[in-house]
Amino acid sequence: MIQKILIANRGEIALRIVRACRELGIKTLAVYSEADVQSLHVQLADEAICIGGPKSADSYLRSDRIISAAEIADVDAIHPGYGFLSENAKFAEQCESCNIKFIGPTSKSIKIMGDKAVAKDTVRKAGVPTVPGSDGPVDSEADAVKVARKIGYPVIIKAVAGGGGRGMRIAHNDVSFAKEYHVARGEAEKAFGNGSVYVEKYIEKPRHIEFQILADSHGKVLHLGERDCSVQRRHQKLIEESPSPFLNADLRKRMGKAAVRAAEAAEYENAGTIEFLVDAKGNYYFIEMNTRIQVEHPVTEEVTGIDLIKQQIRVANGEKLDLDQGDITFDRHAIECRINAEDPARNFAPSPGTIGLYYAPGGHGVRVDSHVYSGYTIPPYYDSMIGKLICYGSNRKTALERAYRALSEYLVRGIKTTIPLHKAIMSDPTFIEGKATTAYMEDFLSRTPTDLFS
Ligand code: ADP
Repeated sequence: MIQKILIANRGEIALRIVRACRELGIKTLAVYSEADVQSLHVQLADEAICIGGPKSADSYLRSDRIISAAEIADVDAIHPGYGFLSENAKFAEQCESCNIKFIGPTSKSIKIMGDKAVAKDTVRKAGVPTVPGSDGPVDSEADAVKVARKIGYPVIIKAVAGGGGRGMRIAHNDVSFAKEYHVARGEAEKAFGNGSVYVEKYIEKPRHIEFQILADSHGKVLHLGERDCSVQRRHQKLIEESPSPFLNADLRKRMGKAAVRAAEAAEYENAGTIEFLVDAKGNYYFIEMNTRIQVEHPVTEEVTGIDLIKQQIRVANGEKLDLDQGDITFDRHAIECRINAEDPARNFAPSPGTIGLYYAPGGHGVRVDSHVYSGYTIPPYYDSMIGKLICYGSNRKTALERAYRALSEYLVRGIKTTIPLHKAIMSDPTFIEGKATTAYMEDFLSRTPTDLFS
């Protein structure tokens, strides 16, 4: 039985895990960098150990120090959160070999789904549609050009080890392909230490619709419905909602079944996400699986009433899921706005610094997951997300109106945030009508005066 968990992460997700553990009566150990002494999760966990300097490479990515902390504090399990070591098969393996339960899938499943080319191949064999493209990585320019011509421009060149919207380049003809191919390889090598890339058809103006998976270690795989994450800037999500305003009951059912098949093909256990692109005609294509809890998981929690972090811990404990697909209901609409310390009016420049007054909204149908507070200094070393606002109601209209209302109450003084941008989006007719595709943000930013969101 898991009695004590080390949280190998920081920020809001670390706090989210502390909260779930406390409700389950499980003790928590926070590990933190020198830059995170002030962080709320360090203060609220039962124990805390400093594991190194501010840079991630000196702390949150130091698996050796994290494992040592786990051994010193005698924990039974490690929750990796998202980012950092959460999708690192070697780290999962290290935990497995030290007899510490990694709260996530097995290192074998992480390996299959962590290489995007292997992942595509695996799910295709299980009958799940994938974006047309190269069979696996293409390691010479000549071969890559052949593939691009065969599938037809535009194409997208993607890093097999990619993540976080990085390592992707679009090419419209042979000339731009030759250039972008080398840029993509260079970027991938720099960002992921692996320059391998593959090529696929660039789907124009798709929606990004993903399915939440929950699987136990006894072979039961369920899906908890979809999240529409089409509102993205530079391939990074800004807003997520469920249900998707685009899906009808039939398409939802077919995609849900395909998502379950994809997870089964990787012998998946624990929580994970199957991501699809959906074109205007309703054709859907698998793009990747994220083998971890995601930033946007609260959207699903507020629609289904299921606590995903607690379910992750129960699954890691070897328990059987006490749910069947038919028990999962989708009675509400939920929407999440990512609150980033960035200045949307100045090309989203990072805005670290000390928060003066902080006041988070509340009231009916409002949830805020955040680790910051009045007087908190945002360190410049990590990603810029300082919180998530999740609003829900019995239908989409109510959820959107509530989000606008809550954003109007949200006070974060002393730094710039994405709050005014979210307010402008919540009152934009294209978004309100449910018509946003992944091309939406670029269009919105080009036609909206910056003073409407500064
Ligand atoms: P990452 O792992 O870096 O998040 P993904 O493969 O999940 O990368 O893709 C992120 C986003 O990039 C997608 O949501 C979509 O907006 C865009 N994208 C990825 N592949 C394609 C494609 N074949 N056609 C069009 N857009 C794509």
